[in-house]
Amino acid sequence: KAAGKNRYELFNPELQERLIRRMQLENDLRKAIEYGGQFIVHYQPKWDTRIGRPVGFEALVRWDHPELGIVAPSEFIPIAEETGIIVGLSRFVLRQACRDCMRWEQSGLGTYTVSVNTSVRLFDSQILFEMVKECLQESKLPSDRLELEITESIVIHDMNEVIRQLNQLREIGVKASMDDFGAGYSSLGSLDLIPIDTVKIDRLFISQSHIPARRAIIRTIVTLAQQLNLEVVAEGVEEEEQVTLLTEAGCSIIQGYYFGKPMGAPQVIAYLKEYGSE
Ligand code: C2E
Ligand code: CA
Ligand code: CA
Ligand code: CA
Repeated sequence: KAAGKNRYELFNPELQERLIRRMQLENDLRKAIEYGGQFIVHYQPKWDTRIGRPVGFEALVRWDHPELGIVAPSEFIPIAEETGIIVGLSRFVLRQACRDCMRWEQSGLGTYTVSVNTSVRLFDSQILFEMVKECLQESKLPSDRLELEITESIVIHDMNEVIRQLNQLREIGVKASMDDFGAGYSSLGSLDLIPIDTVKIDRLFISQSHIPARRAIIRTIVTLAQQLNLEVVAEGVEEEEQVTLLTEAGCSIIQGYYFGKPMGAPQVIAYLKEYGSE
């Protein structure tokens, strides 16, 4: 009877549809990387409330599939990670981000940092370090303008290798940020061991900041970051009350729809003409 049920599951039309879509996406991802032209890098501003202007941008990749239209990163990034396609994709994002950031500066729009999301695969055999060196050389972007966002899951994977490579990157001037802080497993224990410069408070805490206990956690993360001499950034900030709360807590770098949604490189230029430093 159990076997019969399993067999039934295999032909479950919904499951089958999902499997087919996954296989199609995997195939198409490979082609998209090979031929190019379908991936676009968007940028979301990080706003410093102390000076009232943007200080940096996070690079967020978009996939414009020829038939399916825009596919969300939450759907294709996991596939790219499982299949190793993430290496080529990350190289594309990193190269584009370095070039664009350098271009904004050369256009007289001011000096900004650019943050690129990383993935566990990049910490194998020096891939990330080599990729970063190559993109910095090619774009001429000063290394201290580049920040890499890592998540706690990367650290759990192979802490020693992650620490080693982040130290190498730090030696050449590249910064690192702990993304989604507080959302993962036990994060406190690794915070003082990993060479990072910034802690990014997970969006979940911000979206639930109407709950007093959540506010207490936000304040505690900010204090912790300050005591460890780390910068602190809040993400997913959509409302003015959240900005007020964060400012009062001592977090002045803010990212979220309130100060700007992710936008294409041409829109960044318009954004910086309006809000940038020069
Ligand atoms: P993440 O790194 O935590 O990025 C923040 C996500 O929150 C982005 O979603 C962004 O569009 C969204 N967001 C920003 N502000 C707000 C807000 O105020 N409210 C709400 N509701 N959402 C906000 P996105 O672009 O869909 O990316 C999802 C995830 O995909 C990212 O989460 C990141 O983990 C991954 N990802 C995106 N681009 C890349 C990439 O180039 N490489 C890698 N490895 N992962 C990437
Ligand atoms: Ca991120
Ligand atoms: Ca995040
Ligand atoms: Ca996330």
